[in-house]
Amino acid sequence: MVAFVKSCRITFGEDSETDAPPSKIGIIPTSTTCDKAHLMHELSVALSLVQLAADAARQAGAAQVLALHVRIGALAGVVPDALRFSFDIAAEGTLVTGARLEIEEVPVRIFCDLCNAEADLPNPQSFVCPICQQPAMRMVQGRELQLISLEVP
Ligand SMILES: [Zn+2]
Repeated sequence: MVAFVKSCRITFGEDSETDAPPSKIGIIPTSTTCDKAHLMHELSVALSLVQLAADAARQAGAAQVLALHVRIGALAGVVPDALRFSFDIAAEGTLVTGARLEIEEVPVRIFCDLCNAEADLPNPQSFVCPICQQPAMRMVQGRELQLISLEVP
């Protein structure tokens, strides 16, 4: 059984994307790139995911969560491996314990005004339209961090 969470968006820092966030959880952004700070950041994201999942499962009348499906943008500032590691720690002792964390990595997609088209960036660090090589101004996706659905027994 798949319990759909109404696209819970975990928001941290500034989020310029347009879709309405139904569920906001403030997470303090980390600006440092030091590994320890990074892991702290992933741990806070993991704790939020676990809490969202546990609440949604409880509302659905489930006593356990088997899996979480999340989408992580290439510019979300979250390292998937670090999140997996933190997730196991964060889930301990909750009804999310032992759940699989299924991560869908989302590439950065831009909209180019010159080409009038959307394109995925091969390199998220370089904001250049892959079609016309002009600087890309609009990001369509790539910064999201969303809990999409849960699997419950
Ligand atoms: Zn272009």
